[in-house]
Amino acid sequence: TSSTPLADLSADDLAARLTTVRADYDALKERGLKLDLTRGKPGADQLDLSNALLGLPTSYKDRAGTDVRNYGGLDGLPELREIFADLLGVDVSTVVCGGNSSLTMMYQVLTALILKGGPDSPRPWSQEPVVKFVCPVPGYDRHFTMLAELGIEMVTVPMTPDGPDPVAVRALVADDPSVKGMWIVPTYANPTGAVCSAEVAAELMAMPTAAPDFRIFWDNAYAVHHLTDDEIKSADALGLAAASGHPNRPIMFASTSKITFAGAGVAALAASPENRAWYLQRLGFAAIGPDKVNHLRHVEFFGDADGVRAHMRKHRDLIAPKFAAVEDALTGRLAGLGIAEWTVPTGGYFVNLDVLDGTAARVVTLAKEAGIALTPAGSAFPHSNDPNDRNIRLAPTFPVLAEVEAAMAGVAVCVELAALEKLTA
Ligand code: PMP
Repeated sequence: TSSTPLADLSADDLAARLTTVRADYDALKERGLKLDLTRGKPGADQLDLSNALLGLPTSYKDRAGTDVRNYGGLDGLPELREIFADLLGVDVSTVVCGGNSSLTMMYQVLTALILKGGPDSPRPWSQEPVVKFVCPVPGYDRHFTMLAELGIEMVTVPMTPDGPDPVAVRALVADDPSVKGMWIVPTYANPTGAVCSAEVAAELMAMPTAAPDFRIFWDNAYAVHHLTDDEIKSADALGLAAASGHPNRPIMFASTSKITFAGAGVAALAASPENRAWYLQRLGFAAIGPDKVNHLRHVEFFGDADGVRAHMRKHRDLIAPKFAAVEDALTGRLAGLGIAEWTVPTGGYFVNLDVLDGTAARVVTLAKEAGIALTPAGSAFPHSNDPNDRNIRLAPTFPVLAEVEAAMAGVAVCVELAALEKLTA
């Protein structure tokens, strides 16, 4: 196959090529594959890296001598808070360690803002006629479905390689007090892999907002999930916000879901003194304390933040080849055809694939019929509405390498077939 842009081919050449690629697709279907690239789940080999957790903790006392089997300690085990503080580049006094899910913590914060308002809210958000959030797109589907569930309207801004477009954000928040917040995945964003630069972070923390209680949900789910030797540091959201006079603007979230066990790790939040006290006060009505046995288990397993960093290099060894396989398959079939663009992420869990406008849903259907499950087209947009029908999120970590290779070779065929169908229609 040549790598002339398909748009430059004559009608006859396109028709001939369609016949060839259809044959490739039929052969793909014949193979009866059953492969799944839908969700960013760790592979079984990654989970195995943390199996020692199953025999921990060996003690049931924390450093201060508190019995972790009992109630109490609402803000989490201090020694685990220290590890998260080091990893997130914040002061330990800002950190709360909770249950297994950071998404749950985001939901708690959001529902508390709706029911009660934040420390600087004129009234609970539920009493506002309309509440809107700025959503960088493409973004994380569960952020958007959570907002939809809670009746929060979504306004989109483009994601750039340096983070959310700050000019677009500024325009939305400056004069409209109903715009109460925004979501950011600052490091190795889901799904584009973009890393929010210190400059963009500084602008977002400093920009004027009409809402006095504007909140940035700084979801640093992939802070330490590097795929290369360049182990970049996330921008200092809390420090930048405090320095520009908006200490309560960011609330930072993270978890060990993709460090230890996705279903049995530890989540953490970090925020200003006022936000933290506000959160713990709300939480105090809902819980007596977190699972400190699990906290201690994680402390014993890692020792310190460098233990986490060393552990993440083992993850990298397992998953970097899968990301390379995605890149190879896409480049091998699609480079130069002018029908697809994709990211080569330096961390995180996803590859963002943009196909020919108007063909993403068709690609996903073709793949499904060939036994390859992809995340539904449009998932990375509010209400699953990708206005260009071009975006597909690929998640290569869960299947074994050979399956990633087979699935991605198949996806590349589907991308080309859908494009040819459109160009010959
Ligand atoms: N945030 C982002 C950006 C994610 O990609 C994910 C997992 N896919 C989560 C949060 C979920 O985190 P947790 O398991 O801690 O709830």
